[in-house]
Amino acid sequence: MPYSYDTENIFAKILRGEIPNDTVLDTEHSLAFNDIRPQAPIHVLVIPKGAYVSYDDFASNASDAEILDYTRAIAKVCEMKGVAADGFRMISNAGAHGVQEVPHLHVHILGGRGLGRMLERG
Ligand code: 5GP
Repeated sequence: MPYSYDTENIFAKILRGEIPNDTVLDTEHSLAFNDIRPQAPIHVLVIPKGAYVSYDDFASNASDAEILDYTRAIAKVCEMKGVAADGFRMISNAGAHGVQEVPHLHVHILGGRGLGRMLERG
């Protein structure tokens, strides 16, 4: 399936330094920053620096080095934020049904309080 990447999406602009971000972690292939509208006491977004629309795009097309760096960056953020002991939720929305707002792959790492059940009905 073709993945069409919009170079004007907001995370592409963050990666180009055109708009600021509150950086948590910056690695060779990944960037983590606090969500501008946090939905939990801890709400970090982790993105690859490469132009990937969604997790399936990334997992299919990224290099081994990018995938390793990204996976380890997520673990590092969990460690830095201390969410392993009490738990956390990791979400990656994709496409229309996933209600993806920004079309550049990101995982949300949410924690710092009980998060309820995974999905609301409706
Ligand atoms: P999505 O619905 O695509 O999974 O989530 C996109 C997330 O990006 C939302 O939680 C939203 O608050 C966050 N977001 C949108 N624009 C910005 C921005 O300019 N800076 C930061 N740090 N987060 C943003």
